[in-house]
Amino acid sequence: MMTPDLGEPPAAPPAALRLRIDRKALAANWRALDAMSAGTVHTGAAVKADGYGLGAAQVVPTLEAAGCRDWFVAHWGEVAALLPLVPAASIAVLHGPMNTADVAYARATGVRPVLNSRQQIALWLEAGGGPCDVMVDTGINRLGLELADLGDAMIARLDIDCCHSHLACADEDSPRNAMQLQRFALARQQLTARRYSLANSAGIALGAAFHADLTRPGLALYGGLARPEMAGKIAQVARPEAAVIQVRTLSAGDAVGYNGTFTAAGAMRIGVVALGYADGYLRCWSGQGAFHWRGRRLPVLGRISMDMTAVDLSAVPDVCEGDWLALDYDLASAAKISGLAPYELLTLLGQRFARE
Ligand SMILES: *Cc1c(COP(=O)(O)O)cnc(C)c1O
Repeated sequence: MMTPDLGEPPAAPPAALRLRIDRKALAANWRALDAMSAGTVHTGAAVKADGYGLGAAQVVPTLEAAGCRDWFVAHWGEVAALLPLVPAASIAVLHGPMNTADVAYARATGVRPVLNSRQQIALWLEAGGGPCDVMVDTGINRLGLELADLGDAMIARLDIDCCHSHLACADEDSPRNAMQLQRFALARQQLTARRYSLANSAGIALGAAFHADLTRPGLALYGGLARPEMAGKIAQVARPEAAVIQVRTLSAGDAVGYNGTFTAAGAMRIGVVALGYADGYLRCWSGQGAFHWRGRRLPVLGRISMDMTAVDLSAVPDVCEGDWLALDYDLASAAKISGLAPYELLTLLGQRFARE
């Protein structure tokens, strides 16, 4: 009888799904954004949602080597992945503390909470305080203190590293941008911090008035053109690829996938690749998406399944099982075809990708 092996399970074999991260493009994007703000302005990085889906462990060391020194995540649970990579004091948690457990974690790790409300400030001070950031709402009406709260005596007791606000419409030419800038100037008069920060990716392209001391780009680092001014300066970083796990030959009339939404007009070769909606390749790509192999475009056939997608291999008779196909995922055109925002296209990319 076989005795069960109670030791460590062996390492999993390589996945048939990979996300190639172009580290040079990532570093170049950070430098391009940094060059868009002059003088002493520092360029940080929003690395929430696992580095916008690319993998914080992959992107943080590359950005750090490029010169980035300030990191922003949304949740406390996103801090642990960063702690081995960068100093705790360089990480800020945008959602701030909801309870004493969050506050205790911030104080134990040395990570800065971004305090968004009078309740959060009270929680922080009750626990003894320490270096923190503050978010002021200047018109997005999401997180942040109201301008009217800024006279509160509790605020004078804070040790504020950075005072933030966040733009609602930086990707548009909206009068709200100037209005938020004006309100941010009022906030700056009332609140003493070592640094001030307003701009996300798109805000950087709005010009020097929006740069303050520190910028917080996310999308543009990862290849998204947050504003048209960035065309030619920002390069694609994420390149998904999937392996062909089966090749089959169809006859005229054969239908492919759930509900048979594609029917072969004649004999044709198709491949099934290991990529599906559970990986973030949503059903909106059914009959719309495409892969590439050695310069040939290979259209997606029929419905996207949870774990699989069928691809037309008619143009590439030499593609076999095990070959890797590159997904068409240029963010600008993929956004147009899918109706998804570039933010969604990136953060959807699931945990089953090997990130390389
Ligand atoms: C996500 C986020 C950013 C980054 O925004 P992008 O549009 O991706 O550049 C900056 N600041 C705050 C507060 C955020 O939540």
